[in-house]
Amino acid sequence: MEKFVYLFNEGNGTMKETLGGKGANLAEMTNIGLPVPHGFTISTQACNAYYEAGKSIPSLVESQVLVALSRLEEKMGKKLGDPVDPLLVSVRSGSVFSMPGMMDTILNLGMNDETVEGMGKLTSNPRFAYDSYRRFIQMFCNVVLDINVYYFEQLLEETREQKGYNSDPEMTAEDWKEVIVGYKGIVKKHTRKDFPQDPKEQLFLAINAVFDSWNNQRAIVYRRLNKIPDHLGTAVNIQSMVFGNMGNDSGTGVAFTRNPSTGEHKLYGEYLINAQGEDVVAGIRTPQPIQTLKDEMPGVYQQFVDTCKQLELHYQEMQDIEFTVEKGKLFILQTRNGKRTAQAAIRIAVEMVEEGIIDKQNALLRVDPEQLDQLLHRRIDDKHQRVLLAKGLPASPGAATGQVVFDADEAEQLSAEGKKVILVRPETTPDDIHGIVAAQGILTSRGGMTSHAAVVARGMGKACICGCEALKIDVKAKQITVEDQVIVYGDLITIDGSTGEIMLGEIPMIEPKLSDEFQLLLAWADQEKKISVRANADNPVDARKAFEFGATGIGLVRTEHMFMDAARVPIVQKMILAEHYSERKESLAQLLPMQQSDFEGIFEEMKGYPVNIRLLDPPLHEFLPNKDELLVEVTKLQIQNPTSPELQEKELLLKKVRQLHEINPMLGHRGCRLGLTYPEIYEMQAKAIFYAVATLADNGAEIQPEIMIPLVGHVNELKRMRQVVTDAAVAVQEETGKQFQYTIGTMIEIPRAALTADQIAEEADFFSFGTNDLTQTTFGYSRDDAEGKFLQSYIEEKVLPENPFAVLDQNGVGKLVETAVKLGRTTKPGLKTGICGEHGGEKSSIDFCYRTGLDYVSCSPYRVPLARLAAAQATIRHQSNKNEVFTTA
Ligand code: PEP
Ligand code: MG
Repeated sequence: MEKFVYLFNEGNGTMKETLGGKGANLAEMTNIGLPVPHGFTISTQACNAYYEAGKSIPSLVESQVLVALSRLEEKMGKKLGDPVDPLLVSVRSGSVFSMPGMMDTILNLGMNDETVEGMGKLTSNPRFAYDSYRRFIQMFCNVVLDINVYYFEQLLEETREQKGYNSDPEMTAEDWKEVIVGYKGIVKKHTRKDFPQDPKEQLFLAINAVFDSWNNQRAIVYRRLNKIPDHLGTAVNIQSMVFGNMGNDSGTGVAFTRNPSTGEHKLYGEYLINAQGEDVVAGIRTPQPIQTLKDEMPGVYQQFVDTCKQLELHYQEMQDIEFTVEKGKLFILQTRNGKRTAQAAIRIAVEMVEEGIIDKQNALLRVDPEQLDQLLHRRIDDKHQRVLLAKGLPASPGAATGQVVFDADEAEQLSAEGKKVILVRPETTPDDIHGIVAAQGILTSRGGMTSHAAVVARGMGKACICGCEALKIDVKAKQITVEDQVIVYGDLITIDGSTGEIMLGEIPMIEPKLSDEFQLLLAWADQEKKISVRANADNPVDARKAFEFGATGIGLVRTEHMFMDAARVPIVQKMILAEHYSERKESLAQLLPMQQSDFEGIFEEMKGYPVNIRLLDPPLHEFLPNKDELLVEVTKLQIQNPTSPELQEKELLLKKVRQLHEINPMLGHRGCRLGLTYPEIYEMQAKAIFYAVATLADNGAEIQPEIMIPLVGHVNELKRMRQVVTDAAVAVQEETGKQFQYTIGTMIEIPRAALTADQIAEEADFFSFGTNDLTQTTFGYSRDDAEGKFLQSYIEEKVLPENPFAVLDQNGVGKLVETAVKLGRTTKPGLKTGICGEHGGEKSSIDFCYRTGLDYVSCSPYRVPLARLAAAQATIRHQSNKNEVFTTA
């Protein structure tokens, strides 16, 4: 005989397909000896049998339900429908996958005109009993008899008004009795029948309704969207109700086995004496901390503490537990993995290893790398309420307060005076870099998560909000308008780059701190991971941060950032404006010692770890003033001061800006293409690197720089640039009399380079995947245009699953990376490979890099801890088939 109905003690946690997720969990808890209120589950197969029988409960199912019911009555010592001490039950749906849209829970089934009186006497609280009865009628009518709740709510409202009450708690037992009469009238009117008084009839009607809800419109749509097969069916859980409001020996509460905010190993929760679950949530009475239960009900408390321990050991996870005490007897209603903050997740994972509950690998899998970001930046103290001014994109995490300024020079000036500023711009460009350096945070009204402001701010670990279109920024008038509010130059604002929220005034902050547990977890991660983690850093300060966060090398020094320092820009401009080679060499000679000292600083901070330096990449016009602004200045001078030398200078500048203007700079004269036109620039940069190496060699340091040529698409480009660098090395070696090691490689950021990587590898000692540009060139998107115009709607409309600039497109861009690694290593087995695009700090992309056999990932210094953890998870996941389950808040 097929079994359709299982008492909780007849099932277990593995029987999800038969019992549904909820039923299997209730069975599991019962089996490990927890005091779960008794009950039974009608299987998913019964649901299918119901449909096969033309939407009717087969007699075999019916008889098994009746048998299970009497077993339940025996266990509880109560009977359904007993007027003195009635058994009441809840009815819940429960499919294999949790499915919103299925039937709502019915509580207190079994209530009728007789049992309500029994309940009133038992609880010495007739008011509670009648309130429960009217709730039951309302719920039952809504979900089972399909009568709109509106009719009930309207009647309730009218009654309250008539009595002059403002809220439900003012209603007395007599008032509820009156409402119940009215409710029954509604039922009669809509169904032409009386409200069912027979509890067994109620029960079977409810079971029918659960089965029917499997095929309601919402459930069908949900299944289609989530590819859940229609044949699975739903189970039905029938469970006896327990009451926490049966007097002062009863109560109800919620507790976590460890503190969900700090992770401290101490019960954390609260309860109310003589109350039902709803009272705890409603907040009318203030719950007591769980520890005081020890004095009020010592026996129950001890049993609860033991149960918590047992649950943690069983599930090997921090649990979030709902419990009720009925007349001195403890019942566990629900347990699940507790949500927690990043800080708590780390502490719990580490302490569970120390307590021998889980192993290190599992601990590493328990913490979501993305969440670590919270801990590495200064953040707003949650104790303070936020009054929002506007909300933009959370472009770079962390929070900052400062005075509003509207241009980079002002930012630099005020910051030099010791003021804290937030740089507010419609968008930023490389010209604003000094302002970004000086500001506490950046706020733009345009641009996306990978706009210039976002990328630079993340690299520096500064708070940044982008694309906040609600702000009307008037740079000239130095004011921001948001609806009818106006913020002017110098006003204080606070931005939260983790949420995108902007607030007026100053809000207290919490400083980041790497806890001991965090350091320990990262040390374990380093033992597991098979791929190194480097950082992208352009100066000694960032390099130091990277080293502190555990980077074992620099994967990308963007040398152009060294050209953008305010003191150097005029020399760089002079170099660009030079008409002749000799003139240009003069400016380059001035720049050389500056770059050299930057390199020395970075090498020193990295203490012998590899440093990968990329030669100049952006088009030259990025170092010159904006064409339109320059034109305005020239025109003004022509009118006001036509003979001034300044005009001559500006006209020359304008001519050069026009010459250098490009239709599509992303695909224009940049990277190694510049190096081919002006080899003297690369020569100067290479020499600066080698002089730095030679100088430090005097102190006994052994530095092996990796020199990287950007934007190579054809092997011949690399071949020529390699020669320039090698010549520079020979020259410096001869001049200084010092020998040193170095390698020369290339970025792979053009599809042609990936596809001809076997040829490229002939000239390259290493490859570094520049997946920012490789994504642009593979998709044919210009990043800023895409993010500003269509990418968001592409993602919303699911044309693309994610932003490919944030999460590596493994099917497309990834295929080029795999191809290049494979081809490169056919030419040079063991060729060193890494990634230095932003994807190097994103967990799923790191997993891809591990699978593809890269030697390292490189990301912004602030993401290094996250990348270390993600790299460890990738190894564990693929070597041991373990998978992570994050239960973060
Ligand atoms: C890249 O293209 O991925 C890269 C790292 O270089 P950039 O972002 O400086 O173009
Ligand atoms: Mg690039």
